[in-house]
Amino acid sequence: MEVETPRTPSKPEHHQVIIIGAGPGGTTCARRLAEKGIDVLIIERRDVIGNPAQCGECIPNWGEVIGTFRGIDDHDWLKKSFDFPDYLKNHHLDNMRVFLPSGKHYSFKLDAFGGHRLQFDGYLADLAVEAGAKIKTGEALTKIQQKKDGTEVLHTSLRNKYTFDYLIDGSGALGHVARLRGRDEKTHRPSDQVPTAYAQVTGNIPETFDVFLGSVAPMGYAWIIPKGPNLANVGLGSRGGKLGDNVKEKLIEFCAQFDFEILSIGGGWIPMGGMVKHMVDGNSIAIGDAAGLVMPSNGGGISQAMISGCFAAESIIENLDNNSPLTGYRKKIDSCMKAPLRNSLRSKEMGYALMRGNLLTEIILRILGPIGGIKRAMECHRPLWLL
Ligand SMILES: Cc1cc2nc3c(=O)[nH]c(=O)nc-3n(C[C@H](O)[C@H](O)[C@H](O)COP(=O)(O)OP(=O)(O)OC[C@H]3O[C@@H](n4cnc5c(N)ncnc54)[C@H](O)[C@@H]3O)c2cc1C
Repeated sequence: MEVETPRTPSKPEHHQVIIIGAGPGGTTCARRLAEKGIDVLIIERRDVIGNPAQCGECIPNWGEVIGTFRGIDDHDWLKKSFDFPDYLKNHHLDNMRVFLPSGKHYSFKLDAFGGHRLQFDGYLADLAVEAGAKIKTGEALTKIQQKKDGTEVLHTSLRNKYTFDYLIDGSGALGHVARLRGRDEKTHRPSDQVPTAYAQVTGNIPETFDVFLGSVAPMGYAWIIPKGPNLANVGLGSRGGKLGDNVKEKLIEFCAQFDFEILSIGGGWIPMGGMVKHMVDGNSIAIGDAAGLVMPSNGGGISQAMISGCFAAESIIENLDNNSPLTGYRKKIDSCMKAPLRNSLRSKEMGYALMRGNLLTEIILRILGPIGGIKRAMECHRPLWLL
């Protein structure tokens, strides 16, 4: 007779810090922690970091970052982090043109570049690994088990279990840590999720980052972002429900207008509802998109993901060194980003309220354009009507 030996439950693997997601936020956080000798593991759902891109692939240079956000001009570590190697910079983006429904446009300066997110995210991940962080790919967080003694156990798609001292939610737009913890959507998770579609295209590509407003993307915008000779990232996003299930069809139509050949197509969500109310939740911290740190007026979020990843790491280091509360993270975020992101949110709300239909959009933009109103909205300055 065979005797079954009772299975002993496998002991969870413990790390000082576990980060969910190897986006720019997660890998920047991991690098900052690992450089201080802290034991950090990233759990990443994707098999290949950065793939698919789910991005317009406009990556800001340091000049753009300090032109938008506050109090970080002297932050040497961040400054160095934004000093990207030339091989990542496929196309310099020095100018942005914003097109009205009539085809008239306003242009202004930009300090960014078009790159491949696959390459960019891979570069940031390599830096984290070089610093000593561990990354497990092809493994998704699926459940957070609350134990009676108050500890939490992370369960993953590979049936692994993990425990941690600190948990970072770098899982992007849908904020999976807060979702799996069953936290209130209104207070703990990013909101106003805007559906987007994007494509890699080839054809006669402009030199500038072009944005198109009006019925092409109601309550949103379409973009063409050059990322090398004859190659661009083209996409559009429209407030939830405005295009129903037709976001991809609308993008295909948009590409056809320019005779672009579509090489690949994808979709993603951009949380445009502004900063999450509770980013620090016990011993966990939400960063990047999971904390709602996207600029609602233009959808950009790479720089905020990297900055918040760095701030989260510094708050953990301060907590370990001198017991400073993790809520210090929120203070750092507020002093750097609260005002620009609030301005950006107001601009977006103004756009939602006023830019209804091509005629009204044209009239409003013709009033705002010459006095710098469009530029202010894109750069997260205070909207003109509030000055
Ligand atoms: C279509 C589109 C265009 C955009 N264009 C631009 C742009 O041009 N410039 C710009 O600055 N910003 C742009 N953004 C926003 C930008 O992509 C994000 O703000 C940025 O990637 C946020 O970084 P993050 O690290 O917070 O999250 P992400 O980059 O989203 O990374 C999250 C990671 O977590 C992983 N993950 C998710 N769930 C789990 C789980 N359960 N377990 C394990 N891992 C998980 C994901 O696979 C992903 O790798 C765009 C967004 C979209 C959708």
